[in-house]
This record gives sequence, C-alpha cells and structure tokens, in this order.
Amino acid sequence: MRILMAASECFPLIKTGGLADVVGALPSALKHEGADVTVLLPGFPDVLSTLENKKTLAILEIYTSNKAKLVSGNTADGISIIALDAPEIFSFSGNPYMHEDGRDRNDNAIKFAAFSKVAAQLAAGEFTDKPFDILHAHDWQAALACAYLKAMDVDSTRSVLTIHNLAFQGVFPKETLVDLGLPKEYFHKDGLEYWGKVSYLKAGIVYSDHVTTVSPTYALEIQSDDGGMGLGGLLKSRGKQLSGILNGIDTAIWNPQSDPDIKANFSVRAISGKLKNKIALQKQLGLRALKDIPLFSVVSRLTTQKGLDVLARLVDHIVASGGQLVLLGSGDKDIENTFLAAAKKHPTEVSVQIGYDEALAHLIQAGSDAILIPSRFEPCGLTQLCAMRYGTVPVAARVGGLNDTIIDANPASLAKGVATGILFDGINEHTLSAMIDRTIDLYTDPKRWAQIRRNGLNQPVGWELSAKAYQNLYQALLHAD
Ligand code: ADP
Repeated sequence: MRILMAASECFPLIKTGGLADVVGALPSALKHEGADVTVLLPGFPDVLSTLENKKTLAILEIYTSNKAKLVSGNTADGISIIALDAPEIFSFSGNPYMHEDGRDRNDNAIKFAAFSKVAAQLAAGEFTDKPFDILHAHDWQAALACAYLKAMDVDSTRSVLTIHNLAFQGVFPKETLVDLGLPKEYFHKDGLEYWGKVSYLKAGIVYSDHVTTVSPTYALEIQSDDGGMGLGGLLKSRGKQLSGILNGIDTAIWNPQSDPDIKANFSVRAISGKLKNKIALQKQLGLRALKDIPLFSVVSRLTTQKGLDVLARLVDHIVASGGQLVLLGSGDKDIENTFLAAAKKHPTEVSVQIGYDEALAHLIQAGSDAILIPSRFEPCGLTQLCAMRYGTVPVAARVGGLNDTIIDANPASLAKGVATGILFDGINEHTLSAMIDRTIDLYTDPKRWAQIRRNGLNQPVGWELSAKAYQNLYQALLHAD
C-alpha cells in the first residue's frame, strides 16, 4: 500500500508543535506494518538543507511560480520525503505561519492552497509512474488537498484528513477562491464556504473520504456545539466517517535508558537515576536542590488553550504548599510575564525559561516529579506521554486525549493498582489549587507515588497500536465501494 502524507511540519526537519512529532514518527511505524510512506512537505530552507540523497523529481508550475520543483530525498532515519521547492513562497526561515510579532503571514492562503494542489496531483500520479493509494492530509495547511483530489475525480486514491487541533481552521477571505483553481460550485455552505469566507479545514472535512482526529474523546468533543468550534454540526453529520486514533511518541527519541540529554539514565527497574536528574535540574536552574520537595513542571506553549493563564496565578500556592515549579515554554506575553514575575519573587523555588529547548525539555521530563497540563481542550497531547515514559506523573484536565491516556488516581484505581496520573474537571483557580493539593498529598505517600510512577513507566506510549489502527483504516477505505 502506497501512502502520501501531506503536512506542513515533520520532525526533525521543521517543527512548531505536536503535528511535527506525529508526521515525523507515524511513517516509520507504518513502515513496520508493511506500508510504503512518502511525506510531502513545503520546501522550507531547513527542509531542503537537511534532506539527504536529493533528486529533482519534477519541474512544475504553481499559481505563484513557474519555477517550482519537486525534490525527493530522505531524512537521516530513512523517511522518504518529497519537498515542494518553490522559493517565492517557502524560502524564509522562522515560524512557517506567523511573523515574529505574532501576525499571520499574509500569503498563507495562497501558498498552502498551492501546496495542497500539488499534494493532490502527486497523489493522483501526475508526477510519478503510478498513483498513491491513500492521500493522508494533516490539518488545515494540507486539508484542501482532499478537495482538489475530489475535483480531479480519480478512482485510484482515497483521502484521509487528520485534525490535530480544530482551533486552527485556515479561514480566508472569499477572494482567495479566485486563485484556488477549484470548481465554483465548491463555494457553497455544504462545501468550503464558511460564513462568507473559505475554510480550508472545512473543505477537508467535507471532501475527504474519512476524517480522523487524534483521540477518541476529542472525536466526540468536536461533534458538540461547545467543542466543535463552529464545525460541530458538520462533524456530527460525518460521524460515521469520523474516528479518533491516539498519537504515540517516538520511543527511540524519548528513551530514559539511552537519552543523551539527561544527566543519568534510568528505567522502571533502575529508578535511582531519576533522582539524579531531579538534583541536576534543580542545580542547573538555581533552585534549592532537595530530593524530597515535590517538583512540578510545565513544558508547553503558553496559551489559554493550555490553561496556563490560570496556573500562572497559582505559583504562590505551589510554593506555599512546599512545592517547586520549573517551566519551559513561550507564547502569550501576559502569561510569560506573570510566570516571570513569580520566578523573580521565588528565585530558589521557581524557574521560568522562556523559549523552545528540546534538550531542556528532556531533562525536565526526567527530573521533575509531576507535570501540570491544565488544558481547556487537548486533542491528544504528547507531553503526558513523554512524562509517563520518564516516570513523571501527569496532572491534567479530564479532556480529549488526556482523558484517554491517563488513569486518574482515585480510590478505586489506587486499590486496583492501575492509576497513572491525576485528572481533574473544570479549569479555574479553585479546581487547580485543589489538584495541586491532591498531588502533594499523593506525593507525600512514597509507596503510592512510586506505584503511580511505575504504572506510567510501564504504559505503552509508542506508535505500534495506532499505526495498526491507521493501517486498518486505510485498508477499509481501499476496500470500500
Ligand atoms: P501542542 O501540539 O498543542 O503544542 P502537544 O502536547 O501535542 O501540544 O505537543 C507539544 C510537543 O512540543 C511536546 O512534545 C512538548 O514537550 C513539546 N514542547 C512544547 N513546548 C516546548 C518548549 N518550549 N521546548 C521544548 N519542547 C516543547
């Protein structure tokens, strides 16, 4: 089975968030299942410069250029990549969608339409000797590919759209349609029109053969008025062709037994190394280095989606309760500033690192006791999976993939010995401070804490099960009438 994934990010070539982790890891997991996977990416400078064994596959014209090329190659890990090398639209560095000051780049609409059109053409076999069986488009940046494929009316290829986060929908002015090259009748409320504008994600939802999202709970949440973010009714109407498949993490990169970014390697059987990481982390960040202080962490985009506006107001409570906090992230300036002020107030108990730092993220996961994830919504979430893999207890809101991957430490699950973390309902100062208290309470019972940590370390968090689920879905689509 030949699969073409179309996405705007793929770790380690280009990453702003979880999408890149998924597109970077899923192809290898599918390869283990016997699938032949190629990833189509925009030809950003980092992508083109990192590709190995580069070859020009085709020269083509797109709306914005008659000098575009398809360049094939592979990553160091052997993932097959095709990059759309179109310098007019992709030869810039930095965030792919936004300027440094947070403004959207003004050619987002046209460049991702051009990218999506090429994805559909490539999937249908226009630039190679045979078509792909499946076009798997990820998020709004590639969603329009499902509409282009539908408009081409080819028999060879089925399409799947995966929604990694419904909050990002790619909505643009109606005038964009002129440049899109799609049939006029697609601009309709049952097509890609969204309140007088065009919505790329909606186009993908309407014109794909199947829609997936990244956890079963999120698949249900997005079919409601509250969680549907304006597309709930449409998603409900596609309920039979909508499913949730959990993300995994790359367990070779996230491996506490061999991770080069942490101070001491450890495993469920040799857990003492975890404490060495805790002391190393406290020392590196200038905190009091004491093994018995509950060390909370946050590794995240600092946004209201992640509930960190509320947590930022509770740092005093963590410190007053005898805890410490290490935070790594960036995003909303108000949230950054509130955390920075708290760090200044409690320099030996709170460390706030603004920025993106893979190596520090690994050390934080290895060294902290509990990671806080108070998200208002969370399609899947990867942080809690990394945490469990590193014996750090996730303390999270009961939403989306957090609900599907964490077993709350309530009396029943503790008695059965199956708890893997702490879940709570509703994001406000009251619920968050109560869950901090509950965490500290559990932490102060070393036997119970060790059990929760051990369960997390034993949890399967890799891609094996999910790759099988995608493979089954592709098979079912190919055999459907
Ligand atoms: P989202 O995609 O919504 O940002 P996820 O939990 O799905 O959230 O994935 C985010 C990924 O990026 C996780 O692997 C997380 O550890 C990582 N991450 C987030 N912020 C940072 C940061 N500042 N430095 C390093 N890694 C980060």
